[in-house]
Parts: sequence; C-alpha cells; structure tokens
Amino acid sequence: MTEIKSSPKDYRSGFIALVGRPNVGKSTLVNKLVGEKVAITSPIAQTTRNRLKAILTTPKAQFVMVDTPGIHKPHHLLGERLVKSARSAIGQVDAVLLLLEACFLPGKGDQYIVNILKQYNLPVLVVLNKWDLVSKDDYFNREEAYKSLLKELDWPIYKCSAFKGIGTKQLIEDLVNFLPKGPYLYPPDMVSDQPEKLLLAELIREQVLYNTREEIPHSVAVTIDRMEEIVSRSIKKKSEGCMAILATIYVERKSQKGILIGKGGEMLKSIGKASRLQMQNLIAGPIYLEIFVKVAPNWRSKPSSLSFLGYEEDK
Ligand code: GDP
Ligand code: MG
Repeated sequence: MTEIKSSPKDYRSGFIALVGRPNVGKSTLVNKLVGEKVAITSPIAQTTRNRLKAILTTPKAQFVMVDTPGIHKPHHLLGERLVKSARSAIGQVDAVLLLLEACFLPGKGDQYIVNILKQYNLPVLVVLNKWDLVSKDDYFNREEAYKSLLKELDWPIYKCSAFKGIGTKQLIEDLVNFLPKGPYLYPPDMVSDQPEKLLLAELIREQVLYNTREEIPHSVAVTIDRMEEIVSRSIKKKSEGCMAILATIYVERKSQKGILIGKGGEMLKSIGKASRLQMQNLIAGPIYLEIFVKVAPNWRSKPSSLSFLGYEEDK
C-alpha cells in the first residue's frame, strides 16, 4: 500500500452524503466542488447508479463526498437497489447535504426525504439549489416555503446554484466545522475513488442519455472492454501516443439498438464523438474510441446481469 502524505496540524476529514430527489443537482454540485468532472450529470433523472465518492482536499479539510442515487419510490429491481444504496450511504457519514430544488415549491417528495433524514442523528446542511432559476419576485416566498418545510429543525439553509457556482464556497467553509479532526483519508491529489474505466463508461452513458432523451429510457448500461495505449507510426504525426478504447452499450430491446445506431449510424457517431471529447478531458490525450451496441434482454431485472454490469448490491 502506498503511504499517504501526512496532513497538516488540526486537520479535519470526513464523509458527506449528498441526498435529494433525482435531478436536484447532486452530481452538478459534486463536480463544481471538486472542480473536475467525476459525477455524470444529465437533464434526465436518475443517472447516478454507482455509489461515487468524490474527494475535495483543501488546506483545512478533506471532504469525501458520497453522491447517492436519488431517493424515490422503487419501480423495479434496479430502483430498489438504488434506494437501498442511498439509505446505506446516509448511515455511514459525518454530515449530510440535503439538496432541494428551489425552482419548485416544496412537495411531498421533499417531505418524504426530510422525514427519512430526521431519523438519523446527523448534522444536515440544506442546499436550496437552482436558486438562479428563481425569479426575484419569488425570492422571499420561496425561502419562506422551504423554511416551513424545515420548521422545528435547526438545519442551516444555503441558497445555491451548483451550476453557476453561487453559494458553494460558503457551504464548503461551513461544512469544515461538521467534520471530525482527522488525517487525510485519501491522497490529497485524488478526486475520485472510482476506477478510470468506470468513469469512462459513465461518460458514454451520459452521452447516450443526452442524445436519445426519452427514446432510450434507463435500460442502458455501458462497459469498457479494452483500453490500450497505441503508438501511431505515421511519419507526419511523429510517434504520438493515443489511447484506444473499446466499449459496449447494452440495451434491452432490438428496437433500442436501432435507435442508438440511428440512420446510417449517425446517432452512434454523435454519441461516440461527444464521448471522445469528454474522455480527452479526463485522460488528457488523444483517444481512439470504438463503441459496439448489444442487446441484453431485461438486464435490469436479473441479479446476475446487474452484478456483471457493475451495479453490486450493498452489503
Ligand atoms: P442529480 O440527479 O441530483 O445528480 O442531478 P444532476 O446534477 O444530474 O442535474 C440535473 C440537471 O439539473 C442537469 O441538467 C444540471 O445541469 C441541472 N442543474 C443542476 N444544478 C443546477 C443549478 O444550480 N441551476 C440550474 N439552472 N441548473 C442546474
Ligand atoms: Mg446524479
């Protein structure tokens, strides 16, 4: 095991769970705080499947953020595992960031989550996210509405825009006080605990969701089958290194495969191009990407295929 550099005196470190309904901006906030793309974000709900830890190291503290899948009513086996995973994440942290969507009035779903969190004896900081979407005329009433949702609870409220990075600095400064004294838990230059392959697969899945919208629901999974450094022998390009990546997108039905490939392969081409650009940011170098599409019927309901695709059940 590599030894982790010793932390400064009076250092703090701990785990923080990001909790909130799907689409409130949990992944966006994690990315903004960490400053690098580690969690996938999408305008379509429920895209964070694997428990992802993102790590932010500042001179005062190390925050290990657990981006939980959205809490919601489960519809099928995959949904059940997502909810279980979110609940078990809450049980293992030092503080919770509860994200609420300020652009809407509080609803039953928010009350449901508040009730769950009340059962734990944990500090909760409330992020009223997407505050940039609230019109000035609504500022006062919107804040009051959320205050009444949280009545009798002494949870501090932060009006934020994860997207624009508004209010996030203060949030992090205050969050330090809720972490116990302790050393680095991860090397200070690490931003994610996920293997690179999984992050790359998530980038492709994100592009599938962006490009196909509702046509391909959540019945899609991605695996990275091979990664290989290749050296181009072309004289013009000298011997520039390049990372070759082979990936497979799994869908449930043949019709979905057709949509993903598109007319004359156009859809798959756009997905590939956009994914490649994202991957180049992550790996910082040229990438050759080839994507295959395969049909794996009903993979969401089969425990064996769930494990195969990396969605392990929590112990
Ligand atoms: P998650 O499901 O909670 O992880 O939500 P995501 O982080 O994937 O965000 C869902 C959508 O909301 C994405 O399209 C984001 O760009 C958008 N979003 C997140 N935070 C904000 C915000 O503060 N303001 C605005 N306008 N959009 C946001
Ligand atoms: Mg997410």
